[in-house]
Amino acid sequence: MSVVPLTDRIAQVLFSKEEIDRRVGEMAATIVEDYTIGGAAKDSKGRPLRLVCILRGALIFASDLVRRLSIPVEYDLMTVSSYANGTAPGAVRLVNDLGMPVEGRDVLIVEDIVDTGHTVDYLKRSLDARRPASIRVCTLINKVSRREVPTHVDYAGFALREDAFIVGYGMDYAELYRNLPFIGVLKPEFVE
Ligand code: IMP
Repeated sequence: MSVVPLTDRIAQVLFSKEEIDRRVGEMAATIVEDYTIGGAAKDSKGRPLRLVCILRGALIFASDLVRRLSIPVEYDLMTVSSYANGTAPGAVRLVNDLGMPVEGRDVLIVEDIVDTGHTVDYLKRSLDARRPASIRVCTLINKVSRREVPTHVDYAGFALREDAFIVGYGMDYAELYRNLPFIGVLKPEFVE
């Protein structure tokens, strides 16, 4: 049996590689401006922005974003799991914690999608308890119509109003499709 190429499993491309590149560049410019001018920076010792990439979904976005930031940045990784192995939301679970303390630091959480808001709510509570100077949230996709927990997002790439389950550019369905360079919706025959 031959393997169906990934791109042949996509019903619709929602955001092309070019659109994503352009938007990531714009987001980086806004973040640089905010943290340079001091709107977000409260670290009294003037230490670099601490970008916290939430694995596994934000890996690709964070790696593109961080290379567009022209200010000093440190990054760390945190793995949380919110969906068991498909499309139904579940409880948020910490799989791997940060490698460095965030006390006194300006923290920028980088997420792939904010959907129900449970993950960001969990992350903010977890990081807040470690007394950072500030916490902001940056997400590539903001699924605005699906919130269950009120969630403030400081930087959002694209607002998604329809209730679509999307894959690509780091986002998965059952751990597949993260390596697609664009964001799209799967054909129904590839969703169980
Ligand atoms: P929340 O806790 O419901 O806000 O979900 C956040 C996480 O769920 C995201 O970081 C994604 O990993 C995952 N997620 C939500 N919607 C989608 C989707 O459409 N495709 C892939 N993953 C999603």
